[in-house]
Amino acid sequence: MGDCIFCKIARGEIPCRKVYEDDELLAFHDINPVAPVHFMMIPKLHLASLTEAGEAHTVLLGRMLLLAPRLAKEQGLENGFRTVINTGKGGGQEVFHLHIHVIGGGNIPPMVRRN
Ligand code: AMP
Ligand code: ZN
Repeated sequence: MGDCIFCKIARGEIPCRKVYEDDELLAFHDINPVAPVHFMMIPKLHLASLTEAGEAHTVLLGRMLLLAPRLAKEQGLENGFRTVINTGKGGGQEVFHLHIHVIGGGNIPPMVRRN
């Protein structure tokens, strides 16, 4: 996908602060972190969101989830972390290339504020 910012990062056309890379996956720090540690994991394959994923991506998605605790630990999140996947405009997604946020450190508030 030519214009996709995360595809450009995956191709090395836009710099990132890399956390991890293999043939299929890339992880890099969020440019606008919401916590002391905030990075995201993306597939190099362009999938706009979870909605566009299918059975063919089962292993890819599984690999991303299994990578989260390993990278979180490497980033010093010994006590746990939050994973977030925003999907579609209704889910607050801003970059339409599937990504899993990994967030931790400091004081992590409840995920959804209850009134
Ligand atoms: P989402 O709302 O789930 O689509 O999140 C998109 C995230 O991408 C936001 O947290 C942004 O701060 C982050 N972001 C946007 N551009 C970049 C970039 N060039 N490098 C790193 N993170 C980025
Ligand atoms: Zn993309």
